[in-house]
Amino acid sequence: MPKYDAVVIGAGNGGLAAACRMAKGGKKTLLIERHNMPGGCASSFRRGRFEFETALHEICEWGTKENPGGCRRICDEFGLDIPWHMVPDNFRVITTASDGRTHIDATLPCTVKEFVNEMERLVPGCRKSIQDLFDLGTEFHAAGDYSLSVAGKTDPKYMQEHFPNFLRLGSYTVNRVFRAMKMPKLAQDIMNTYWGYLGVDADHLSFLQYVNMLWLYVNHGAWIPDKTSNELTTGLLECFRSMGGEVWMNCTATEILFDESKTVRGVKTTCGEVETKHILCNMNQNMVYATMCPPEVVPERMVKLGNARTYSARMFVVYMGLDRSAEELGIRDYTVFLPTSADTAKEYESGKTIATNCNQVMVCYNVVNPGFSPEGTCVVSLTSTFMDDDWANVDPDDYVETKTAFAEKLIKLFEERYGVTVTPYIEELEIATPWTMCNYVNVPQGAAYGFELKDWDNMMPRMMMMGTEFPVKGLKFVGAASIRGDGYNSAIFSGDTLAKKTLAEMKEEEA
Ligand SMILES: Cc1cc2nc3c(=O)[nH]c(=O)nc-3n(C[C@H](O)[C@H](O)[C@H](O)COP(=O)(O)OP(=O)(O)OC[C@H]3O[C@@H](n4cnc5c(N)ncnc54)[C@H](O)[C@@H]3O)c2cc1C
Repeated sequence: MPKYDAVVIGAGNGGLAAACRMAKGGKKTLLIERHNMPGGCASSFRRGRFEFETALHEICEWGTKENPGGCRRICDEFGLDIPWHMVPDNFRVITTASDGRTHIDATLPCTVKEFVNEMERLVPGCRKSIQDLFDLGTEFHAAGDYSLSVAGKTDPKYMQEHFPNFLRLGSYTVNRVFRAMKMPKLAQDIMNTYWGYLGVDADHLSFLQYVNMLWLYVNHGAWIPDKTSNELTTGLLECFRSMGGEVWMNCTATEILFDESKTVRGVKTTCGEVETKHILCNMNQNMVYATMCPPEVVPERMVKLGNARTYSARMFVVYMGLDRSAEELGIRDYTVFLPTSADTAKEYESGKTIATNCNQVMVCYNVVNPGFSPEGTCVVSLTSTFMDDDWANVDPDDYVETKTAFAEKLIKLFEERYGVTVTPYIEELEIATPWTMCNYVNVPQGAAYGFELKDWDNMMPRMMMMGTEFPVKGLKFVGAASIRGDGYNSAIFSGDTLAKKTLAEMKEEEA
């Protein structure tokens, strides 16, 4: 049986980062991926003369070579060197305010100063609360950096002195903090726009998770790779190979093997068994515990935790290759959030069923990268987020009809809300439902965001209790369902952090 220091299951963002870190640490590492290309959500596909980005709208925590964000720093260390484009604005949102009357059309820029100025222009009197919000973001970010620098073993006294607001507000929800800051309601409505990227309504969304994401986007900008996410993930795969890593593509891990002390001893795959004491698994924990481990090795606490957590957002995407340029069509924005209402609780509720869901985010890649598709064309995607597993209620015989009807509804709503016409110019159209994500990436219910990031379950408790989060000896989870939640940057961060933890454990074992 071939033997490795570590085996990484899955070549999504989290798995690739974990594999690179292990190889960079000098460990004999095997990366197993069930598809013939890496990336999971972070990939691309071709239809006709168009290359479509599967998921990415924009990545945060990237920054420039001179002023890199944390995620870029990790990838730089692995030797990744690919061209990027910066997205000029933070986001545009067009919707109706939570009062049910006021029309919102706001475009927020990228630096803190400009962001605060624009918010004050849109909602006079909100300046202080928005500035306070970014100051909190700075404190929270510094607290995170400190926690990482001491490997989670924080000194309570130091924390109290330097990060008092972090300790006080870290477990609050977004709306609770906004109310405490006395942020005007209309400003709250605009600032809540990012809930769509985190998949939890602002009454339940972890403030820590929200402010971290906002701070990173505003301070380091939003970025996309020149040639889709495929360039990022095949690039990381090459980094792994160049550091001596071994890759088995078209290979599925089917079972985790344990010895009599309930410690990992290997993996069973469709290409044979492999021996290892350390597995970094880029899959959802619930799925692995339920289907790939014998029940006696899974602690009861993990079963309870798995039941207590809620699967996060499930995506429906309409990918369109249009035979007109973005300028000709009148599309000037890169990202536009187009929810029915800025009331996130209402949107969350209506996002539960196919009949009621109307939320969407539009992305037009050519606005930032004119060479994204052939001259005179552009690529637009419309993404809608489902808050429950309603696609499981669709009869297989009705599936094609249901997804086509929902895609048509999204396109119609987009044309109405954004005021452009795209239907006559569709040259290529593809649809991905939560079931497409479920089948392709192998995530339960197609929940590509992992578990909901709530006040009681977010990156703070997950990171501070990393030991209890992964109680099965030799088995750790990386990716969207892991310590920092969803997003390219968080998945990469989790892979890197947990691989570093594994390297430290190996060092102890060797000593
Ligand atoms: C439509 C959409 C839009 C998004 N937009 C953004 C965005 O703009 N910005 C952002 O930061 N994030 C975005 N995200 C979220 C982001 O894509 C994910 O959070 C992140 O990529 C998840 O990475 P992961 O490490 O969990 O890997 P995953 O993407 O879940 O990949 C897991 C990998 O493991 C493989 N695998 C699974 N089971 C096995 C097995 N048994 N054996 C072998 N291999 C296996 C899969 O094939 C896959 O390659 C979006 C997601 C979606 C769906």
